[in-house]
Amino acid sequence: MERSDSAGRLGRLRPRLSEAGCQALLVTHLVNVRYLTGFTGSAGLLLVLPDDVVLTTDGRYRDQAAEQLTAAGVDARVEVRPTLGAQHEVLGTAARGIGRVGLEADSVTWAQQRRFASEVFTDADLVATEGVVEGLRRVKDAGEIERMAEAARIADEALAAVRPLLGQGVTEREVALGLDYEMRRLGADGSSFETIVASGPNGAKPHARPTERRIAPGELVVIDFGAIVDGYCSDMTRTLCVGEPSEDIALRMAAVVKESQREGVAAVKAGVRGRDVDGTCRAVIADAGWGDAFIHGTGHGVGLEIHEAPRVASTSEDVLAVGHVVTVEPGVYLADHGGVRIEDTVVVTDDGCTVLTNAPKELIV
Ligand code: ZN
Ligand code: ZN
Repeated sequence: MERSDSAGRLGRLRPRLSEAGCQALLVTHLVNVRYLTGFTGSAGLLLVLPDDVVLTTDGRYRDQAAEQLTAAGVDARVEVRPTLGAQHEVLGTAARGIGRVGLEADSVTWAQQRRFASEVFTDADLVATEGVVEGLRRVKDAGEIERMAEAARIADEALAAVRPLLGQGVTEREVALGLDYEMRRLGADGSSFETIVASGPNGAKPHARPTERRIAPGELVVIDFGAIVDGYCSDMTRTLCVGEPSEDIALRMAAVVKESQREGVAAVKAGVRGRDVDGTCRAVIADAGWGDAFIHGTGHGVGLEIHEAPRVASTSEDVLAVGHVVTVEPGVYLADHGGVRIEDTVVVTDDGCTVLTNAPKELIV
């Protein structure tokens, strides 16, 4: 697979620091540390300075940190210290003379902030920043898209392998386990979130957890899942039914959601706002009389995290740009009849989008 351009990211980050009102940034959100350096350890602090980059971690990651930064082509100092206190000392020394140090407000606790202020960056003003690295992460490079496409392909294949199970009287949990197993077997690092398999009335809850309920012929089954490949997530929902639906309304729900989702995907292109895509999906469902039954936003960005910027929701002013990867996932949820949701993960292009999730959308298994 193409190497992700970690090294270039630090260069693109620096101009954003002054926009955020700081001269240096302490990166504490581990996903952001990974994005900037390739380091995947469970503990590490990254200090980005005007002309220096320091990664501190503990002895467990001595070799791994050096290897991963070298593999990513990232030029940074790796400082291994046994305790957090000793790591803080390294960071405090490295930041000497810096007037304004940014912290990531979304990932620093109150207690940490107090410690950074009183023990680490004692001469600096601390600046609360939001979305500095996340803003860069919105636009995926070719290596990132390749990983997400592979994650989506694995999920497609896992669903194809598990579909025959549905007609055999299995439980929701068994289907979910089957998908998780197949994704791992096909090369995924894991599932990108807890797999959702929601049958019959359970499908009326968009984020139901799989239960011991047996899947019966004729009922709707919402299946929402994804794979992780080299840190990158995919996200896909299909709604299936074993044999003909036992209620006519299920066919109408499926047809309306399919049309809503199709029009939503068709509305995605660079320059369009998240709220416009949401509005397109919502209008189709509202026209069918089910506006109140579409009880969540239309979609979200996907990448190293399963939910990231930009948002595709009724309140989202985020403007889609080439290289953004978002989901389009309208649904209809009726307490007495269950739910239908269809979701694809797509890459935004100049004049439309490329769909990464390609499992068939036919309702009937
Ligand atoms: Zn999903
Ligand atoms: Zn989703």
